[in-house]
Amino acid sequence: MQRRHMATDILVVGNGGAGLRAAVAAAEANCRVLLLSKIGADRPNSTAVIAGWGAHVPPQDVESYFRMVVEEGNYLSDQDLAWQYATEVVDRMPELRRFGVEMHLAESTLERPGTARNLWYFPGPPRRLGDAIRSPLRRAASEKGATVLDDTLVTRLLTSDGSVNGATALDLTTGDLVVVSAKAVVLATGGASGLYARQNNPAGTTGDGFGLAYAAGAELVDMEFDTFMLSHQQLQALFTGRLTDEEALSTPGAHHSCGGVKVDLARRSTLPGLYVAGEAAGGTFGSARLGGSAVGDIIVSGCLAGLSAAETARDKPGLQLDQDQVVIERARLAAFFDRDGLPARALAREVRRVMWENMGPVRREAGLQSGLEKLRALRAKAASMSARNPRDLRHAVEVGFMLDVGEAIAVAALRRAESRGTHWRLDHPEPSNTDWLCNLIVRKGADGAPDLTARPVALSRITHAGPCRIGSAWTGGYVGLAA
Ligand SMILES: Cc1cc2nc3c(=O)[nH]c(=O)nc-3n(C[C@H](O)[C@H](O)[C@H](O)COP(=O)(O)OP(=O)(O)OC[C@H]3O[C@@H](n4cnc5c(N)ncnc54)[C@H](O)[C@@H]3O)c2cc1C
Repeated sequence: MQRRHMATDILVVGNGGAGLRAAVAAAEANCRVLLLSKIGADRPNSTAVIAGWGAHVPPQDVESYFRMVVEEGNYLSDQDLAWQYATEVVDRMPELRRFGVEMHLAESTLERPGTARNLWYFPGPPRRLGDAIRSPLRRAASEKGATVLDDTLVTRLLTSDGSVNGATALDLTTGDLVVVSAKAVVLATGGASGLYARQNNPAGTTGDGFGLAYAAGAELVDMEFDTFMLSHQQLQALFTGRLTDEEALSTPGAHHSCGGVKVDLARRSTLPGLYVAGEAAGGTFGSARLGGSAVGDIIVSGCLAGLSAAETARDKPGLQLDQDQVVIERARLAAFFDRDGLPARALAREVRRVMWENMGPVRREAGLQSGLEKLRALRAKAASMSARNPRDLRHAVEVGFMLDVGEAIAVAALRRAESRGTHWRLDHPEPSNTDWLCNLIVRKGADGAPDLTARPVALSRITHAGPCRIGSAWTGGYVGLAA
């Protein structure tokens, strides 16, 4: 495996809306920016396939929009992040026009059924409406001096003295190992809906950013909340026993990850030097998110993460990479070629089946527990995965991320013994603010297993948690309402 070195101020991982907006912000702050992405501009990521809607918030609506975000998330949002999002989205969305994005206001009921209001609409080619955002932002990033490399899979974050200062990546065309040293890294790798057998995200949405951050020691938050596409009627039937498990598992599947890497207002993770934006970050939306708010969030958080990373890079000398970490990663990747073992694609299918059947829309203690054990058995099998070319190797690396992220989702879903927002525990069908007004934080323990902590939610602005719902506005309604 040949080795190449690159040095930059800011490494951005992911060329969706969040990564591109971060790259533009950091380049405008006069930083050297390198943007790596495993998916090229010719293939869709989640940003490219949006239904076309993005949050529109006039200044006088900030307070009410913030309240809607927190209520929709059933009071688990980090209210400081949600407030920052609601205030910043006012200007950050129309500002997209500065980069050549075409958009107009149109009436929609997307956010909440029965409550029509204006949202930004992005007209684009059929099934690729999000290219209306992606293409101009990509052009802007290049024009401002960012280096954009497609078909490059980031496999591991590199750290020095506890601070993230680079990454290793695999050139999917040549199979070379690319070693990047950077003063700060922005992860904008999207969500993890591709962990489930049934889902509507483009290929490759395998939770890599969650896996990269988790492996490096960062905290993940609200991982039990994934949006599944059951209609209001189906969800009601599921909770009243009129929809069988089998019928629930025949529904379209996973759509969006509400949780992700825990960040602060600077969009910094719990690891110095590591910033996170877009669907890869958790905290803003709590247990469910409003329609159109993902597009608002990728633009707001992307910009903030890019600016904060640039601020960090400004006064920081380049740190020496820990070459031992590079050697270990190179040996790990090369070993896949030396084995004559299981093809990674088959294992990925197994992981997806287990995740859908045990951690999908039908969640009960016994199923979650058995799913967790099955994932651990698959991890043992994954040790013998083999690869014949860089594409196979990509799948093998993704399976590693999927197993870590799947385990994090499973332990959080198992612990949260209530139903709330997008988390449906059929053996605990009520929400409970008395017991569960907390965020579940997962980090990698010293023994390599997930370490779970429950942290009470800080009710910093809305100081009283009101009634909670099961379901989300996006799927057309809620089941029940309880304190
Ligand atoms: C069908 C569909 C319709 C939707 N419609 C809407 C809508 O109308 N309005 C709305 O607000 N939201 C919508 N959403 C949600 C929204 O599209 C996503 O939440 C958002 O686009 C995520 O953007 P992102 O930049 O965070 O990630 P993405 O757009 O998913 O980009 C992630 C990037 O990271 C790269 N990447 C991942 N892992 C690695 C790695 N290891 N190494 C290198 N690169 C990596 C990928 O190549 C990809 O380019 C929709 C989602 C779907 C699936």
